[in-house]
Amino acid sequence: MADYDIAVIGGGINGVGIAREAAGRGLKVLLVEQGDLASGTSSASTKLIHGGLRYLEQWAFRLVRESLIEREILLKAAPHLVRPIRIVLPVLAGGRSLWMLRLGLHLYDWLARGSTLPPTSELDLTTSLAGGPLRRSFIAGFEYSDCTTDDSRLVIANAIDAQERGATIMTHTRCVRTERGDDWSLVLNSRGRRIVTTARVLINATGPWTALFSEMTMRQKKKAPVRLVKGSHIVVPRLFDHNRAYIFQNADRRIVFAIPYQRDYTLIGTTDNDFVGDLASVTVSREEINYLCDAVSTYFREITSIGDVVWTYAGVRPLYDDGKKAAQETTRDYVLKLDTGFQRAPLLNLYGGKLTTYRRVSQEAIEKISSYFAPTQHWTETAKLPGGDLGEQTIDQFRTSVKERWPFLEEDHADRLVDAYGSRIERLLGSAASLDDLGPDLGWSLTGAEVRYLMQHEWAETADDVLWRRTRLGLKFSKPQKEVLAQFIAGVQKPAA
Ligand code: FAD
Repeated sequence: MADYDIAVIGGGINGVGIAREAAGRGLKVLLVEQGDLASGTSSASTKLIHGGLRYLEQWAFRLVRESLIEREILLKAAPHLVRPIRIVLPVLAGGRSLWMLRLGLHLYDWLARGSTLPPTSELDLTTSLAGGPLRRSFIAGFEYSDCTTDDSRLVIANAIDAQERGATIMTHTRCVRTERGDDWSLVLNSRGRRIVTTARVLINATGPWTALFSEMTMRQKKKAPVRLVKGSHIVVPRLFDHNRAYIFQNADRRIVFAIPYQRDYTLIGTTDNDFVGDLASVTVSREEINYLCDAVSTYFREITSIGDVVWTYAGVRPLYDDGKKAAQETTRDYVLKLDTGFQRAPLLNLYGGKLTTYRRVSQEAIEKISSYFAPTQHWTETAKLPGGDLGEQTIDQFRTSVKERWPFLEEDHADRLVDAYGSRIERLLGSAASLDDLGPDLGWSLTGAEVRYLMQHEWAETADDVLWRRTRLGLKFSKPQKEVLAQFIAGVQKPAA
């Protein structure tokens, strides 16, 4: 008998989502991730949980409808991580016409039917708050609903749930070889240690590494149908004072978002360029920075230039290669391909997908391989993610109750913890009665207690894990503060691997 029912390779959103779905159905699951959780594309997205307004132009109605249903499910599952946002769409002379945008947005609302979010409204940009930061030439526009999230925290929340339901999660563990027989035999390199294990079914959820994993590690002869498309973002000091986002049409018909980010910043993205090169070092080019600066400067009165940029990041979309010429036209849909045969243990390959659809992909993935196991039921449509169980309270009521219960927390500190941990804040703060009870202050409201919690419960091992994928305080921390954090981490006893 194999050690595991399922081995999932890849700790991005799709891998952890699949591990969660499978573990919740009582299957014995192993998930291996070569680096930190969410260290691939799943921490480099635009961070929208959305239907994808622009996919309507590709007639991808099923994908948009499904994504909008998922948006609603995730809003309920993790109200601390998935937050509604209004997105302002100014009409650009020479761009898509007013009537076309109106039609598209009404269709978007119709595809979102049953949603708890408010529908589209038309805006007079000469009088509305949203028009304030825009150039005077923008007169008419729309405002519609979608959601933002913290992508890497969504990954962590799924991994926690998977583990609590029995999955084994191994970070810093690379699958370096696979042998296929009646079962899979996997050779893992876990921090320099060689481990051999077996699984009944193997799931390749390696995102942009899918082709590499398939061709190099699994030595498959067939070329994987994946198209790698790089997308870059820039972050600049806050460009506007309200909490709506903007979606801008560019002259090249691409779209660019400007989204409030971490209270003090605006996130601008994204580009769409075919990618070749080393997936371990995906960087933002000067050309892309200029493209994004120019895109927003066409709309905002305030000019944004390369000197304003405080941070950049890039990620690679692992798209299913549907043979389309332009990178931005390649489908954002997902494809699950099951590969079986006589005396060949099953292999499930995942191509494409979005952050927004991960739960649905995970459910379908397990359904595809369900015939190999005793019958089980899908369960995640109504289940909360860790931290999302707020009882009868709304997120705002919960926020107020946190501030009453731990009154020594400054407003911003309490808000940051609520957004990151939801109801799990209880485990982090417990009976603390003052800030001193939370251990050393490491800067920007990060305390020793929080870092210990992240190391004990969320697989954090380095300052980067804490700052860039668990708390998003990386933008604020200075080099000396980062060094103090690294020293603190080195002094904390690590949980047994
Ligand atoms: P990844 O997150 O890349 O995970 C794959 C993991 O596999 C990696 O962590 C890698 O380290 C690991 N791995 C690879 N090889 C091995 C091995 N041999 N052994 C062990 N581990 C291995 N979607 C949305 O819904 N909304 C958005 O706003 C949005 N914006 C985007 C913007 C950009 C610029 C990009 C690039 C994508 C965006 N997406 C968005 C899409 C979404 O981010 C991706 O579809 C999703 O994150 C892919 O997740 P994944 O788990 O498939 O891949």
